[in-house]
Amino acid sequence: MTHRREFLKATTAGLFGISLLPVRNKLRLKVQRQVKPLVISTWDFGIQANAAAWAILQNGGRALDAVEAGVRVPEADPNIQTIGLGGLPDRDGHVTLDACIMDEHGNAGAVACLEHIVHAISVARKVMEKTPHVMLVGEGALQFALSQGFPKQNLLTPSSEKAWKEWLKTAHYHPVINIENQLSPAHHDSTYSSHHPGDSFNHDTIGMLAIDQQGNLSGACTTSGLAFKMHGRVGDSPIIGAGLFVDNEVGAATATGVGEANMRICGTHTVVELMRQGHHPEEACRLALERLVKKQPDYARSIQLAFLAVDKNGTIGAYALQKGFTYAVYTPDIPNRLMESKSIY
Ligand code: ASP
Repeated sequence: MTHRREFLKATTAGLFGISLLPVRNKLRLKVQRQVKPLVISTWDFGIQANAAAWAILQNGGRALDAVEAGVRVPEADPNIQTIGLGGLPDRDGHVTLDACIMDEHGNAGAVACLEHIVHAISVARKVMEKTPHVMLVGEGALQFALSQGFPKQNLLTPSSEKAWKEWLKTAHYHPVINIENQLSPAHHDSTYSSHHPGDSFNHDTIGMLAIDQQGNLSGACTTSGLAFKMHGRVGDSPIIGAGLFVDNEVGAATATGVGEANMRICGTHTVVELMRQGHHPEEACRLALERLVKKQPDYARSIQLAFLAVDKNGTIGAYALQKGFTYAVYTPDIPNRLMESKSIY
């Protein structure tokens, strides 16, 4: 697992010195200098991922290539137990991956519940570029990946297998009732929960957003999902509009945290639409979270959900339900630093 690097607690609004733009002041938006290239990504492992993305961006490469290369870094790291190789398995011991990618033209590709392939993000990109579809799941996604030459391998590392076997000792697995207990706000019961507020062990996705030197945006999102989830469970991360949304005219957003909460509010699409209305990215992230808080306050208090966003000008914003959400920022002025977002609780 990545160690914490230099840690900067700052609000992005203050840091980037850009105030909320009134909707009517579109003119000012147009003359604002665009920060580029730029890459941002979720959690501490974003630092290494950003470095790989930056290598492409600084040479004039495309944002799409940068985000794919960036998130492949944690996907390949067996010590990161929440993404790709070494991800914690579901309740039945299967490591199943979810990922999606989106480019500046509004093209999107995704895979869900994909087994045996390390680089789910690259399979998602192939879905986008080589098929008429947006998402492939399960066995179909695996067959497609194999047809594209991706190597098949065992993703369950000895330490993730050990963690799963430990979990099995206390897990009360009742397929019907526990689905509801684990995932429904109405029946939320921490006994069956595989997550805790602020807990970064059981769930942590990498979501990455980039702007290239041409000023184009792309994003990528990849995860092994909630640890010890039910077999077949798909979270928010591969869902366009939940785990990731990119609109080249407006901005982009990505998410991490309990996917079920995010899917209910189409979180990243909501964040981008709020930016379109003129909200600063940080405020857009907060307003999206407040939709959940308003409808399901007890549930929202008991989980983590965080958004990270950037607008077309390169203004960055983030917000989380709980404290402890970190994200990595790499711009011409900020050489890869870890920040912590504000939080509602
Ligand atoms: N959003 C992911 C999921 O629900 C997990 C995470 O981001 O921690 O699968």
